[in-house]
Amino acid sequence: MISSRFILPSILCFLQLSGAMAPAAEQSKPNILFLFSDDHSLQTIGAYGARLSEFCREHNVTPNIDRLAAEGGLFLNSFCGNSLCSPSRAAVLTGLHAHANGVRMLGQAITPGVWMFPEAVGSAGYQTAVFGKWHLGATPPGTDFARLLEGQGRYWNPNFIGADGKLENHMGYVTDVIADMGLDWLKQRDKSKPFLLMVHQKSPHRPWMPPPKYYSWLQDVKIPEPPTLFDDYAGRASPAHDQKLEIGRDINMRGDLKVFPPGKWEGEFKPMTEEQRAEWSKVFEPRNEAFRKANLQGDDLTRWKYQEYMKDYLRCVKGVDDNVGKYLDYLKAEGIDGDTVVIYSSDQGFFNGEHGWFDKRWIYEESIHMPLIVRWPGVVKPGSVFTPMVQNIDYAETFAEIAGAKAPDGLHGKSLVPILRGEKPSDWRKSVYYRYYGPGEGVAKHYGVRTERYTLAHFYETDEWELFDNEKDPQQLHSVYADPAYAKAVDDLKIELARLRQVFKETDEVEAKQPAQVGGE
Ligand code: CA
Repeated sequence: MISSRFILPSILCFLQLSGAMAPAAEQSKPNILFLFSDDHSLQTIGAYGARLSEFCREHNVTPNIDRLAAEGGLFLNSFCGNSLCSPSRAAVLTGLHAHANGVRMLGQAITPGVWMFPEAVGSAGYQTAVFGKWHLGATPPGTDFARLLEGQGRYWNPNFIGADGKLENHMGYVTDVIADMGLDWLKQRDKSKPFLLMVHQKSPHRPWMPPPKYYSWLQDVKIPEPPTLFDDYAGRASPAHDQKLEIGRDINMRGDLKVFPPGKWEGEFKPMTEEQRAEWSKVFEPRNEAFRKANLQGDDLTRWKYQEYMKDYLRCVKGVDDNVGKYLDYLKAEGIDGDTVVIYSSDQGFFNGEHGWFDKRWIYEESIHMPLIVRWPGVVKPGSVFTPMVQNIDYAETFAEIAGAKAPDGLHGKSLVPILRGEKPSDWRKSVYYRYYGPGEGVAKHYGVRTERYTLAHFYETDEWELFDNEKDPQQLHSVYADPAYAKAVDDLKIELARLRQVFKETDEVEAKQPAQVGGE
């Protein structure tokens, strides 16, 4: 769905003006700043050529992330192997798919003893820290310093797991709190050593609680609707019909859309102070009152829900982007921007109304795509656009190589460093393995393979298959699995899928032996 032809002309102009690349790092090892967010889609990043990218550029939604892309490289084909928070985070940390690292579902812990990159980077002489969302049960972070959100974490006045497992409460809005904690850690660092800093934002995860300074932002703007907002799922197998993630039907009116009687605070509003609630009420109570009076029905109601969901989502994204800017400014002010690799990514993609959906979980395009942007002065040519198929399982080995740390043999991923250097490895993967183990939002368990052109999915509980020709059907509306014209493609893809499952030693038996811990979403 994305191609390099969509890249912003203004970014290209910037590149021409930017002249020579920054001087090579003076210290022998570069700092690593990993800015990671939660559920941030490609569609809502200006630098990508996705559905809402143009809107995001017009409305200045992600100027700092876009700046990072202009000064670094943008991966167009970056995928997760399981579109869910905990599994993607475990894959990032270990370089292994879910069945091998132990995290198939939400809140599970990485199997003790499995290698994780932060500890290896620390052993290579780095001072290391992680702040924010973790969501990996009792998995230790393996860093010198950590403040991790308790469980899923909350938007207001969040609790963090501090030293010795004690809870620390921090007042404020979560995105700013996490970013500021990381900046404070940077300010007290030992400047004689390189650092690895991981800033894991909770935003823009559901229920999309925006930062106060953007409560009114986009209020009178119409967010472009996707052509598939009223998808009827014809042309697809039963799982697409049976899911429970439709904006019109399934989005939560109170928690997600925040329409409830005045004063009846619940969910994410409970931890807020009276002052924080008053600030919210000033803007949103009039909106809710107008909504109640309008008494919308049917498609009009779905359209209203889409608009309000997307506005809160984009406000959250804007809050994340502001804090990306804070870090870029800090690195520059410290004079270490030339010595620091900055990575922006998110744990998976997200549906922003495509197919009428919110959420993720599917192998389908909006869900499986992860944003991935890397600025590495002196190594990544500014404005680079990388097209090889990469995955979250590649991050761990990449960070290890940047730090000069040793990664063990047998990881499922590969270091991205050769690609970042502008090389074109001839043996690079031509397909990506995907598996969603459920449960949640009525999305059926499935595994599949995504190649440069096709997506093949097997919903194994009902033994149904889907095949999408993403070149001819980028919106993935018509499965061509049963079309005789695609019989050869189906055969080839099934062989490739079986090969991947064999290479990664993935079996159904593994799933049956380890019942999942389930909770949250
Ligand atoms: Ca997530």
